[in-house]
Amino acid sequence: SKTTGQLTEFLDSGIYRFEDSNAVFIDPVRVLNRSYTRFRVSPSAYYCRRFNSTCPPEPSVASNSRKRKRKEKKKPRALNDREQVADQRHQLVRPFLLKAHESLIRTSEVLEVMSNLRGCLGPETSSPGVEQSFVELAQVWQAPLYQITLNFHTNYKQGEDGGSLATQDCEQCVLPVFNNLVVNESSNDVEAEVLTSRYILPPKSSFYMSDMGQIHNLIPAESDFGFSVIVVDPPWENGSARQKSRYKTLPNRYFLSIPIKQLCHTDGAFVALWVTNREKLRDFVEKELFPAWGVTHVATFFWLKVKADGSLICDLDLFHHRPYECLLVGICHGKVMNSKQLLGSDHIPDNQIILSVPGDYSRKPPIGGLLQELAPRLKGGRSIELFAREMTTGWVSWGNEPLHFQESRNFVTE
Ligand code: SAM
Repeated sequence: SKTTGQLTEFLDSGIYRFEDSNAVFIDPVRVLNRSYTRFRVSPSAYYCRRFNSTCPPEPSVASNSRKRKRKEKKKPRALNDREQVADQRHQLVRPFLLKAHESLIRTSEVLEVMSNLRGCLGPETSSPGVEQSFVELAQVWQAPLYQITLNFHTNYKQGEDGGSLATQDCEQCVLPVFNNLVVNESSNDVEAEVLTSRYILPPKSSFYMSDMGQIHNLIPAESDFGFSVIVVDPPWENGSARQKSRYKTLPNRYFLSIPIKQLCHTDGAFVALWVTNREKLRDFVEKELFPAWGVTHVATFFWLKVKADGSLICDLDLFHHRPYECLLVGICHGKVMNSKQLLGSDHIPDNQIILSVPGDYSRKPPIGGLLQELAPRLKGGRSIELFAREMTTGWVSWGNEPLHFQESRNFVTE
């Protein structure tokens, strides 16, 4: 049947398209696994954050009646101007979010797949062992001497029965790990080592690990070799103490100097920027950042975060903690001024909703492929993710820790 066809496609691609709404559900593990040949992303490593599968029980009226009375007396504070604008934005997208969520709740075949997955996952674990901090390593005087060893498996010999793998010849390649473009141009996963840690690099992928000060090294010598799709997830300043301990944030003005225009292909490029829900930040992006980058905002997508049972990770209408984040999609015009000619599609749909179960803190769902599909004409072009913490087939990953999620403990072999 038609539904089963959609499910089959989901199991294969990790993407389920709801026909009745402008929404897709994605399973990042399945999407990422399309990149790998010998390794698989471990679901328990990806889904390391546990969200309670049921809502906390309603407090009983008897025990809380006094508290409630006290609360009722307190008049809600009126929203200030900026909060009102934020609330208006929320009210505008709310129907799209609700419709997308309803589509997921109605699609039991997807929920079933996700609940099976949940059954396989153990309790939340803080990742075992000590994680290598590239940000710290990059700051010591020996940093230019640190190297990465890539172990290419060049020759697969067949066993006597004609099937099994008997021996493998290995070719090693040793390169500086910082301020250097490290490429796996082979069609296979490559195992790599930095000091005592092991990393898995997907086929046809590359990374450049550096501080923002060196980002200009990625500007292509010839602009015909520039990037057609650029995804940016900056370390925005944010009140969350938890975030502060995960990675350093930067004041907004630093991002004005990212050379987006020079990174773009001469014809132009598709630029997608992750932003938080703070109105002050939205204002900065629209009035200063996009104009400085030469980017015209064409659509806004929303990532709606759900638990493995399909429920939202928190109430949709909590003012200071929304269960969604925004992806601002824009075009950086180059020689080709006509968007249709540049992208190869008539228009980019607005208010698209991407539903998924979140992975580790601040980890975004892999939306690169979805973006490339929206712009068929850009498909053959080069793609880059800025401030990346992982690698993807066909993409260049830049940031100060692009190997973060490539560590071998996040993978299993089949
Ligand atoms: N998109 C990523 C993901 O899905 O996992 C998350 C990116 S996170 C919001 C921002 C990243 O920027 C962090 O990895 C952080 O270490 C990095 N970063 C912070 N300051 C930086 C700097 N000065 N230069 C380069 N990268 C920096």
